[in-house]
Amino acid sequence: MVVEHRPGQEITVSYWLVQDQDTVREYYRPLIDSTGFHVFGSKLLVLPDHFYPLKNSTPLLEIDWTAFPQGYLLQNSFAHQPRRQRIRVLQEQLSNSIFIGGQWRLHTFKVMEKPVYFAIRGDWGKMPEDSLVQMLEKTVNVQRAFWNDYNTPLFTVVLTPVYGVWTENSKSCSCTGTGLTNSFSAGATNNPCMDDLVVLTYVFNHEMMHHWIGLDIRNKTEELQYWFSEGFTDYYTYKNMLRSGIYSTKDFVDTWNMEVFEKHYKSQNKTTPNYKIKEAFWTDPDISKLPYRRGEIFAFYLDNQIQIHSAGEKSLDNLMFDLLAHSRKENRPWTNEDFLDLCAKYLDEDLSAFFEQHIIVGEPIDFEKIELAKHWTVEVKEGIPVLGIGRE
Ligand SMILES: [Zn+2]
Repeated sequence: MVVEHRPGQEITVSYWLVQDQDTVREYYRPLIDSTGFHVFGSKLLVLPDHFYPLKNSTPLLEIDWTAFPQGYLLQNSFAHQPRRQRIRVLQEQLSNSIFIGGQWRLHTFKVMEKPVYFAIRGDWGKMPEDSLVQMLEKTVNVQRAFWNDYNTPLFTVVLTPVYGVWTENSKSCSCTGTGLTNSFSAGATNNPCMDDLVVLTYVFNHEMMHHWIGLDIRNKTEELQYWFSEGFTDYYTYKNMLRSGIYSTKDFVDTWNMEVFEKHYKSQNKTTPNYKIKEAFWTDPDISKLPYRRGEIFAFYLDNQIQIHSAGEKSLDNLMFDLLAHSRKENRPWTNEDFLDLCAKYLDEDLSAFFEQHIIVGEPIDFEKIELAKHWTVEVKEGIPVLGIGRE
């Protein structure tokens, strides 16, 4: 929209935000009805182009929540129950936020005195909501302990139902999520397939991990670095689920074999080069999973090599802590060169050629030729690596 005005004239813009679907299928669009609302920051706020004059600027945004009845729930990435709200964040942090209100079931707990709010709505049948809250609490505790990062003053998690057919002949089951500023949001079909919490547990652990990988450690070239921001996120999703006891070692091995090794090595796209991910990520479902699997397999490889090289003293975890500290100190997106510099520091050798071959060109790693740390084994059967539990 273009607004024409005299120089210096004060402008007031009014607009209505409406839901444009009768049944919620498109979870990223504004959801607004008589019972409440669920809107991402990028969809809620119409801002003038010049509101953010510079890339690193954080102008003051004030929101007055008026005309909401007493006791009406208001929750967003920046505050709980605000009436007048002052927000000073980067443009992308404002876009990557969530605002909800109205009829939600709000669960709260604290981690090191810092509140976590979990809002859920809708009918989830037999899904045990208490167990879901407990799983979230465990997840936040374990991941914050992993990063040794308890700085977030307030954290918000939102789960909203999305419509999916569930009949004798047609059973739709999906869950999607997005990591946001001091929050994450997930949308899932509230069908019986969510009852056992398996899918929700994975999605919650994955989206929580984006608080650090993706939002703190930011990509410079978006899709071209999804092998890291999705792949390493997934690797640390699984690794921290194992660490927290959500996964037993057997669960970890079974999931890894089924979801990672088998799906990657059987995929027709396993040799698709990295640059093609940029074009097809949003249109081709098999390509959109490629950077996850390729990246987490690379992370698994690297974790093993660092452990072997340091005789078990160090692991990929240490490299990740360094990368987080580096990203915060430099306050800029990380580059492949930053990553390779850190690899060289931990391996005492240049990993550039191997990285080029397996991430950029996309040749699958041949695990017949790879040495692993003693707690794992990998056997290659008909071209597909199979993870097993090792001696130590
Ligand atoms: Zn992700």
